[in-house]
Order: sequence, then structure tokens, then C-alpha cells
Amino acid sequence: MNLENRIERSNSATLFEEAKKYFPGGVNSPVRAFKSVSGPPLFVKRGYGCRFTDEDDNQYIDFCCSWGPLILGHNHAAVRDQIIKTVGYGTSFGTPTKLGNEIGKLILENNRFIDKMRFVSSGTEAVMSAIRLARGVTGKSKVIKFDGCYHGHVDSLLVKAGSGLATFGVSTSAGIPESFAKETIVLPLNDPKLLDETLQKHSDDIACIIIEPVPANNGLLLQDKSFLQCLRLKCYKYGVLLIFDEVISGFRVGFEGAAGYYGIEPDIITYGKIIGGGMPVGAYAASHEIMSHISPEGSVYQAGTLSANPVAMTAGLAVVKELLAPNFYEDLAAKTSNFVQSIQDYCDEKGYEVNIVQIGSIFWIAFTKDRIQRSDQIDPASMDKFKVLHHELLQRGVYLGPSGYEVGFVSAAHQAADLAEASQKICESMDVVFG
Ligand SMILES: *Cc1c(COP(=O)(O)O)cnc(C)c1O
Repeated sequence: MNLENRIERSNSATLFEEAKKYFPGGVNSPVRAFKSVSGPPLFVKRGYGCRFTDEDDNQYIDFCCSWGPLILGHNHAAVRDQIIKTVGYGTSFGTPTKLGNEIGKLILENNRFIDKMRFVSSGTEAVMSAIRLARGVTGKSKVIKFDGCYHGHVDSLLVKAGSGLATFGVSTSAGIPESFAKETIVLPLNDPKLLDETLQKHSDDIACIIIEPVPANNGLLLQDKSFLQCLRLKCYKYGVLLIFDEVISGFRVGFEGAAGYYGIEPDIITYGKIIGGGMPVGAYAASHEIMSHISPEGSVYQAGTLSANPVAMTAGLAVVKELLAPNFYEDLAAKTSNFVQSIQDYCDEKGYEVNIVQIGSIFWIAFTKDRIQRSDQIDPASMDKFKVLHHELLQRGVYLGPSGYEVGFVSAAHQAADLAEASQKICESMDVVFG
């Protein structure tokens, strides 16, 4: 596919060539390399509100929002001011701080599903620690995960289903011992029958089931609430802990995340992204009883040199405070619905095969009319359409994450006028995709 470039991106292109000398593939996280879309990745120099500017001085309305953390948009005044103030006192002491207490209190007092938490420095670290905790509490070792859910680059979770249903996992990355992958059982989403059969057979070995209750890393594979409820009940029945990986959905689909949205209480919840307000933060949380297994109270060891450092805590605290404003989530969801609906209406009118899936302020553009709830229902050929869409949007100053499997995020900084502008540009680009 030859896509004509009509904007200047030569500074980004030059910087990318240079970056290849220093970093594998020129990047420090793989999707950033733009492998599945056209042109060099954008090198971004500054952001404000819902927009950012690249090194060639092109401006874009941003729907990637640093992959989810920036629910208030770029460079939010309250967050920036708190970070600057805190940095003035030093960046890290390796001791507890009052700021840690403040954010811990605010989060726990406003979330019915958790009593205690532990801060770490990334989503991956949160998930890895939550799995260790589940194993420590249950004394069992195997983990069930679902095909189409991403949980960071944890060894035992970078696995896909082996041949046949409900088999032990096969790693999707080099460098993962087969023996680790064997500790994971991979199941398809939304299949309660297979789940029950698997638990019946293996529950004596299974420590936990981990799921993204809002699967948002492989398209947006919204599950039936009944499936999530079934998961909850089966975990109780078989003595298996349920982990909700809410690194994306936490503080995104509501202050209490997906647990609150669906009214389902998991045993352990992991957080990341939004909780750090753009700084590297993750967390895992559970009941008093389960968290008492964590060192130094209990025997499950987990530590971190920069965990809960004051700069990260102050950024997270500033964001979390804003999220507690009345109607914050209702307004954000309503804004997102209008935006998504305007594009959907246009596509329907034109007879374009597009279905935009949405929950709260997360959306995903699927190039099909079918409802998609499992990863194997996504047609890989539809990614050619996404590639054209992505390219056309860059030409027009709209930035989506550089893969058709990625979701988009609307932030509080996206105003009605920005969304109207973006909607028009997306509709124009759809004309090219289907032209
Ligand atoms: C992003 C993400 C992770 C990993 O978080 P990092 O901070 O990138 O390590 C884990 N789980 C889910 C659901 C995520 O979306």
C-alpha cells in the first residue's frame, strides 16, 4: 500500500533514524515504532489539553493520551503545579511520605471494593505482584488468563492458547521458559461452559483467574455482565482468587473502575496508568485479609526502590482529586457518546462497514458490523483499513494509537468543539478508506 504523505514529518523521520542507533527498533516500547501504520513515528515535543505538537510543528488532537493515563489531558494545570511544587522539596527519599497517605486515603475511602493497597512503579509490576500474592494466599501455582487480554510483559502472562481449547499456554515471546508458560491456562473470553469445565478439572492447581474486566488491549471486547458474574461465582465455588486487571479501566470507566461499573467484587485489583497522573505508577489492592499476606506483614515479598515516591504520588493525587468532582464521569461519557455517535451516524448513512464500540470514555473503531467479544472474531484483513484511516488522520491533525487493535481515549480536556473537529476529520478520512 502506497500512502501519499502530504505533511512535513522530516524532523521526526531524522530523529527516528538516529534513535535506531540507540534503541532496539528506535523505541523504548514496541508499538511506538509505527510498524503497522505508515511513516515514521511522531516525535512529540509538547502537549497541552487535548492536543500535542510534533518536532515538525504539526499539531494533532490526541486520542491516545499516552495510552490512557491522561484522563485530564496533557499538561493539566493542577497536576503540573503540584509536580513542580513537590519536586522543589526533592524527588525521592526511600521513606514513607505524607503524600502517600493522602492518596491512599482518598482512593480507599472512595472505593468499596478494596481496603488496602500497595504502590509500585508500573502496571506490569502491579500485575506481577498480584499474581504472586494470589499464589502466596492460595498455596497454588497455576493462573487462568483469557485470549485477547493483555496484562503487561509478565513472563507467565505473555502466552497464548496452545492447540486445542483450554490447553496450557505457549509463550508469545522468546526468552520465556516453557515451564513458566505451562503455569498458565488460556481460555477464550465469554465462554462460561469452557471456564467451568476447566475449573472442574484443574481447580486444585489454580491460584487465580486474571481478566481485564473491560478488555481494551486487543480491540474493545466488551463482555456480557453475566460472564463476569459467572467468573465471580465460579471463583468462590472452586476456591480460586479473581483478579481484575484494571490498569486501563481503573479510574476510567468510573472512580471504582469496572468493579464499580458492573457491581462485581474481585479479590485483587491492579491499577496503573491514570493512578500515576502521567508518572510511572501502578498499584494492587485487596481486602485487609488478603493484603496482610504482603511483606512486612506477611510472607509474600514485594518491594520497590522508587515505589510511592513523592513526585509520582503528588501527580496521582492531583488527578484523583479532579476525578471526584460531581458528574466528572457522566460528563466525560456523554461527550464521548456524542462524538462516537456522530461518526457512527455518518458511516451508517454512507453504508460503511464500521462499528464503533464504546464504554465510558474509551472507544474502538471496528471495521465490521458484527458484535466482537473475542479476539478471534477480529478480521486481521480489517487492519489494512485502519492503516489508511490512521494515515489520513495524521494528514488532518488527528492522532490515534498506531495500531487498529488499540482503543482511543477521550479526556476531560477534549471540548465539544475539538470533538466536532475530530469527528469531521474522521468522517472525511472514512471517505478515503472506503473510497
Ligand atoms: C498497560 C497495561 C498493563 C501494563 O502496564 P505498564 O505500565 O505498561 O507496565 C497491564 N495491564 C493492562 C490491562 C494494561 O492496559
